[in-house]
Amino acid sequence: MIDSFGRRITYVRMSVTDRCDLRCRYCMPQNMKFLPRREVMTLEEIARLAELFVGRGVRRIRLTGGEPLVRRGIVELAEAIGSKVGSGLDELTLTTNGTLLERFASSLHAAGMRRINVSVDSFCPDRFAHITRGGDLSAVLRGLEAARNAGLAIKINMVALAGINEDEIGEMVRWCAGQGHDLTLIETMPLGSIEEDRTDRYLPLDQVRRLLAREFELLPSVIRTGGPARYFDLAGSGIRIGFITPLTDNFCDGCNRIRVSATGTVYGCLGHEQNVDLRDALRSGGREEVDSLLDRLLAGKPRRHDFVIGPSAAPAVDRHMSVTGG
Ligand code: SAM
Ligand code: SF4
Repeated sequence: MIDSFGRRITYVRMSVTDRCDLRCRYCMPQNMKFLPRREVMTLEEIARLAELFVGRGVRRIRLTGGEPLVRRGIVELAEAIGSKVGSGLDELTLTTNGTLLERFASSLHAAGMRRINVSVDSFCPDRFAHITRGGDLSAVLRGLEAARNAGLAIKINMVALAGINEDEIGEMVRWCAGQGHDLTLIETMPLGSIEEDRTDRYLPLDQVRRLLAREFELLPSVIRTGGPARYFDLAGSGIRIGFITPLTDNFCDGCNRIRVSATGTVYGCLGHEQNVDLRDALRSGGREEVDSLLDRLLAGKPRRHDFVIGPSAAPAVDRHMSVTGG
């Protein structure tokens, strides 16, 4: 799959549910409205779509959400997609908030997963509960332990929030270095309405990087994953730190990905509405129709996002990150 700018699409992020057991303040409002279940793709439809993507040259699939581990049957889905690893698919991964990881880590490994991303914005239990509106940090810590014991490599995702967790970023770097986990720091993005003004929490990561550079030696890495992160090796630690800076940097030229919502709508860009809806084509069983819809998506995939954050700026798109999983 190649888009009109010559970018090869080899990576698909699939949201398996829009539901979540947490309510992170920067992600969704307290009373988030979730989709009626009948609109959400069945596990069979998701697996079939994944297979179609692999047939069209996709090498990496990430399951995400909402919280993917709250979807019943997630292990069976991981097994179905994981069976393609080595036969066209290079890697199946997952992004999770970690609350249910203790229960699922070893089954995910058995299904063929080798790496997962776990989102942890604070190691202070009260702060964690505040950010997630009630989340239990100890469950996430048990999940991380279980994942390590199961043999899963872990990357921590931390959204940098001004006035909330900015004082913990250095500590997070040290903790990740001690554990051998890579770390990705993320700028809060204007996706979907929430109660707060995101401007108040926006922390430019170039500023964070300059501060970290006073304490840590960050060596620019040649690694590019076709995604929004710029990577640095943390000298002497063996870990890598990524900075996802959609607002201070543009990262779209090498974009290699598309995103599928839980209802089967495929988006060409996180920051635009451009999409095609594959669910009906999948339900009527038409492979050709799915292929031609994907071709239409590729032809119109936007060149770049136009994120702006500021007091009067509306969200770039109405959909929350939980719809497409970031
Ligand atoms: N529930 C899982 C989790 O939290 O890891 C997977 C889905 S979540 C939408 C994926 C990632 O997006 C998480 O790391 C989360 O912190 C991040 N995220 C959610 N809303 C965001 C926003 N508005 N700006 C930046 N990152 C966001
Ligand atoms: Fe749920 Fe993940 Fe959004 Fe937090 S960031 S509310 S865990 S989907």
